[in-house]
Amino acid sequence: MKPTSRHCRKGRRAALRTLGQGALALSLGRAELALGASIVAVRLWPAAEYSRVTIESDQPLSARQFLTDNPPRLVIDIDGLELSAALRELVGKVRADDPFIAGLRVGQNLPRVVRLVLDLKQAVAPQQFTLAPVAAYQHRLVLDLYPTEALDPLATLIHERERAEALAVRNVQDALGEFIGRIERPLANTSTSKTPIERHSTATPSVTSAPLASPAPTTLAAEEQRSIDRLVIVAIDPGHGGEDPGAVGPTGLREKDVVLAVALKLRDRLNSVPGMRAMLTRDADFFVPLHERVRKARRVQADLFVSIHADAFLTPAARGASVFALSETGATSAAARWMANKENAADGVGGVNLGAVKDAQVLRAMMDMSTAAQIKDSLRIGREVLALIGQVGALHKRSVEQAGFAVLKAPDIPSILVETAFISNPEEEARLREDDYQDKLVDALHTGIRRYFARNPPLARQRTL
Ligand SMILES: [Zn+2]
Repeated sequence: MKPTSRHCRKGRRAALRTLGQGALALSLGRAELALGASIVAVRLWPAAEYSRVTIESDQPLSARQFLTDNPPRLVIDIDGLELSAALRELVGKVRADDPFIAGLRVGQNLPRVVRLVLDLKQAVAPQQFTLAPVAAYQHRLVLDLYPTEALDPLATLIHERERAEALAVRNVQDALGEFIGRIERPLANTSTSKTPIERHSTATPSVTSAPLASPAPTTLAAEEQRSIDRLVIVAIDPGHGGEDPGAVGPTGLREKDVVLAVALKLRDRLNSVPGMRAMLTRDADFFVPLHERVRKARRVQADLFVSIHADAFLTPAARGASVFALSETGATSAAARWMANKENAADGVGGVNLGAVKDAQVLRAMMDMSTAAQIKDSLRIGREVLALIGQVGALHKRSVEQAGFAVLKAPDIPSILVETAFISNPEEEARLREDDYQDKLVDALHTGIRRYFARNPPLARQRTL
């Protein structure tokens, strides 16, 4: 949000007030008296998955849109609006690396109809919707530009192989190549393939039951050699993004930026572990709805889901990290319930097009499935991570807490939510900003995840790719 545009409006409003109604009617004429909506802010969120244009106003806006082919353009007519400096700011906000928008123009098409013309880089499937005021936002008109063929998180994972391999320090075998081979073979020869694809070979995994005596990396690596004989996929979920900044620290550090930085580092660390691959639910500053985060993890049949956050609490004194798992029966504490409610509100702030949520019924059915077994595993991984994070900084609570976090509801994937620290605490905000502290957090998460898999080797699974 641009403070300048707000100040302009305030200034203009004050000026209008001092003019009085009579003077206003004389100077502007009758037609202009009903000024219509005023723009509060305009925002652009470019990302490979979709690019979003948000127009925030003091009154609800209605708009029509149409696509042209030659040249490819998207035209949006917004009613009840006069062209303003705030709206013109959109033009300068188009980034050269926006995957969808090459350029943008605004003009007064008709009296009280503003036209936006978007020059497109690729064919798009646009979605337009409005959002009622929520949190710090007033009315929002949202335009999402999706590719005509949606990005598949599995395809992304496969494309990332080269990059991941370059990072691998001990690349003993290309498990992902083997994985892809197994996907491709049945696809190429569907007539003979009647069984679901399995990521694992038919052999029983070599389970190692001996607990780890020490966290020394050599021991861990040896454990892994014996225990992990198939590709393990970890879904890393940086909270918030785009329109949803998450919590904001006393000096302005935003949760969405910190957790993305930590997630990107964790991805690189995990990708350097042989037989392990990380998938991010978002890799840039754009919003991903909660159910979509779960769907992405399930699409790649992740073995683990780790959501990363750094939230605020009611008092700036609150400090320390916490780890949460799902609860089927109610929260383990009032604070855990409060945190889950706060996180679950992200969709409202981030902006979900409810009209376009596909497979709503499937989604509900999935959310209603029993998660008892999942929670048992989630508590296990939660304890591994909590023990290590406790060595990096203070813990808010010494046990894994549970509450009804929507993002942890994949019935078949152990899922945890890590509150790395309280961004609302001035000291913790300062630490979260430090590269060194982020590295320590990543170390703890990475070691916790590896220990969990060394002690709980993933079993063969039926693949439904
Ligand atoms: Zn959060």
